[in-house]
Amino acid sequence: MNKMASYEELSLKIAFLQKEAKFNDVFLKKLFDVIPNPMFYKDKNGVYQHCNDAFSKIILGIPKEQIIGKTLYDLPHVIPKENADLYYEKDRELFLTLKEQFYEGKVKCADGKIRDYHFYKSSFVMEDEIVGLVGIMLDVSDYKKALEELDEKNRLLSELSITDSLTGLYNRRHFQNILEKKLNALSRHKQKFSFAIIDIDFFKDYNDSFGHHEGDIALQKVAKTLRENFNRTNDYVFRVGGEEFAILFEVKEQKDAFLLVENIRRKVENLKIKASKKSNYEYLTISIGLGNLLSIKEKINSSIVYHEVDKLLYKSKDNQKNQITVKDIIF
Ligand code: GH3
Ligand code: MG
Ligand code: MG
Repeated sequence: MNKMASYEELSLKIAFLQKEAKFNDVFLKKLFDVIPNPMFYKDKNGVYQHCNDAFSKIILGIPKEQIIGKTLYDLPHVIPKENADLYYEKDRELFLTLKEQFYEGKVKCADGKIRDYHFYKSSFVMEDEIVGLVGIMLDVSDYKKALEELDEKNRLLSELSITDSLTGLYNRRHFQNILEKKLNALSRHKQKFSFAIIDIDFFKDYNDSFGHHEGDIALQKVAKTLRENFNRTNDYVFRVGGEEFAILFEVKEQKDAFLLVENIRRKVENLKIKASKKSNYEYLTISIGLGNLLSIKEKINSSIVYHEVDKLLYKSKDNQKNQITVKDIIF
């Protein structure tokens, strides 16, 4: 009697456990399918044992029944060999050395689009033995696109912050920075450089005679001439004030500095921008102060250097304008 009861009890218990196991199985599969991230489970031979709707529909684009029981290499129409090789290697790595794995990869999805995915994978251990792996994928395409856009915007923003909007030349803020750097390199590494300050002659009268808009156009033409003639790697052209420009550049032979600057003086005059009445010249001209920075004993304030070169510019201004005053500068 007792034995019978215990047998019945046992049968009931088994039936209950079977029902519970089935419930858990159905529940887990449902849960798997509700999760919008592609997920899969493979055994230690790399055979897909299960995957969710997202994996079959979004990634491979074939029904689960065609995936389960297959390896990476059994599905060449949806997993190209080079991808299969890559994932195979990753799976092997996970089984051999790791418990968990993360990597990023591009995946050609069922709709033909290539998306960026983060792969989170973990080996599946039962009774100290690796029996398989589970993987979940996270679509990070939008996130990556947003990051790239942000990078591009940052790049543009930093470019804008150093650019003068009227002429497209570097602005005064950037000039300050680069001049400091050049002075540092001169004191530390004896890296000589030349520094020209350029000012358009009779520009107030030009504006008064032809209007501000014409003045702006003249500024743009002069700026273009300066930029086109100082366009080597270590050449920097700035608009440092209303009708005032600066150039920082390096030369091999000292005499070249004067020749290069004389060349732009001539080229600006040759733009043949009709000068206003007060000018001594037929066309718009520029005056230039040119300092060849040859050596400094210690770090010197950049405004002192600026002042030195500005004095040269004003010598040119006092002396009929449309010319260069040059000096070697040693502090
Ligand atoms: P000098 O030959 O001695 O250099 O005399 P100048 O008239 O060129 O110099 P001044 O400093 O008296 O006048 C500079 C003029 O530059 C004043 C202003 O009307 C003009 N200016 C400054 N910025 C701009 C600008 O952005 N656009 C225009 N159109 N004119 C500007
Ligand atoms: Mg001026
Ligand atoms: Mg001027």
